[in-house]
Amino acid sequence: MGQENYTNKIIKEVSDLKEIFWLNSKLKPYEEAKSLINLNTEAIDDAEERLNKFAPLIKKVFPETELTNGIIESPIKEIEKMRQQLEISYETKISGKLLLKMDSDLPIAGSVKARGGIYEVLKYAETLLLENNMISENDCYSKLAEKEYRDFFGKHTIQVGSTGNLGLSIGITSAALGFRVVVHMSADAKQWKKDLLRSKGAEVVEYDSDFSKAVEEGRKMSDADPMSYFVDDENSINLFLGYSVAARRLKKQLDEMNIKVDEEHPLIVYLPCGVGGAPGGITYGLKTVFKDNVHCFFIEPTHSPCMLVGMATGLHNDISVQDVGLDGKTHADGLAVGRPSKLVGKMMDHLLSGIFTLDDYKLYNNMRHLHFSENIDIEPSACASFEGPIKFETSEQGKEYIKKYNLEDKLNNATHIAWATGGVLVPKEINDQFLKTYL
Ligand SMILES: *Cc1c(COP(=O)(O)O)cnc(C)c1O
Repeated sequence: MGQENYTNKIIKEVSDLKEIFWLNSKLKPYEEAKSLINLNTEAIDDAEERLNKFAPLIKKVFPETELTNGIIESPIKEIEKMRQQLEISYETKISGKLLLKMDSDLPIAGSVKARGGIYEVLKYAETLLLENNMISENDCYSKLAEKEYRDFFGKHTIQVGSTGNLGLSIGITSAALGFRVVVHMSADAKQWKKDLLRSKGAEVVEYDSDFSKAVEEGRKMSDADPMSYFVDDENSINLFLGYSVAARRLKKQLDEMNIKVDEEHPLIVYLPCGVGGAPGGITYGLKTVFKDNVHCFFIEPTHSPCMLVGMATGLHNDISVQDVGLDGKTHADGLAVGRPSKLVGKMMDHLLSGIFTLDDYKLYNNMRHLHFSENIDIEPSACASFEGPIKFETSEQGKEYIKKYNLEDKLNNATHIAWATGGVLVPKEINDQFLKTYL
């Protein structure tokens, strides 16, 4: 099938709310792809060093990071019982190991947003202090918890538009450092997230509309105030770099587990995608570390597959899911984004292997499977990640991909990682309701 016909077929299926598995025909060998991306590994080095530099401050302000010395990182765990459960429930095959990367447990924000969001706030705080000659590069940043600095931060406002979790991350961190912070929440945002933010001292503005509108309004209000900084989820390179640091730390974790990633041992990673920043940043980082031995896939809900629509048509942020007749409404609140990031889609053009979409009912089924097989709870959006391993090996497109990249004989050596993007802050009674939800 020609490329144009393939795109038309995909968009038709997307409009018909079919579950699909789209293969990215623009994927290139890493060495070729990297020269087409306007970013390099030094940018990740810089982000990693900055996070290390801020670690003493983080440890002071967030005592829950005491054990890791102010480094915000999550565990990774093999979930063999879940692998078996998925094979039975979906009559599928998942060769090799299945691991869960538990960003659901990340301290402070309880989701993958702790990576990008906290990094962005720290970077902004540092920029402000350097501009005002209040610190020098060699200072120990733990002193930024002192009154003098908090008072200074208090004169500045940070604003952000969010479906929930980015707001938690930016809101909690900004408030903890002493900033005034305003979070613009879309209609999808859960009440408990708004309540939690207010309890931490953030201002929450609620909208009846979707994420794009919350971002637009937030940006307007922030732009009108010279002392306000807007965290732009649709375009932020800082968010992206904060996420990208995950990859090197993951490599260390895999090394410690004696899990090999090389030409004979492929790594296949499944990342739930909203606007694209988190999965995009992580994918970029993973590609710089594992190059062609890592295969990254995004997962989106059938009602809101914005990255898929943007990448498949090549229109990126110039198209929305509403433009192809979808309502954008999904139980995956963290993925309820109608228009993809301007920055990320283009960077993913030659790095991303493909995108899966899934029906909402599976979010809850997968949540129950994980709860009962492994006694682990993650939020519904994060459960989208399991669609990858369910479909990768047995679907027609998966078979095509496996053949194209010579993976047939290597699948028994493969490591699959489902990226659990959120969960630990979900209140118990709400988690219990999720576990009882059948669509
Ligand atoms: C935000 C979020 C994602 C996706 O991140 P994007 O940067 O929006 O693509 C995935 N899962 C959860 C739980 C999230 O909160």
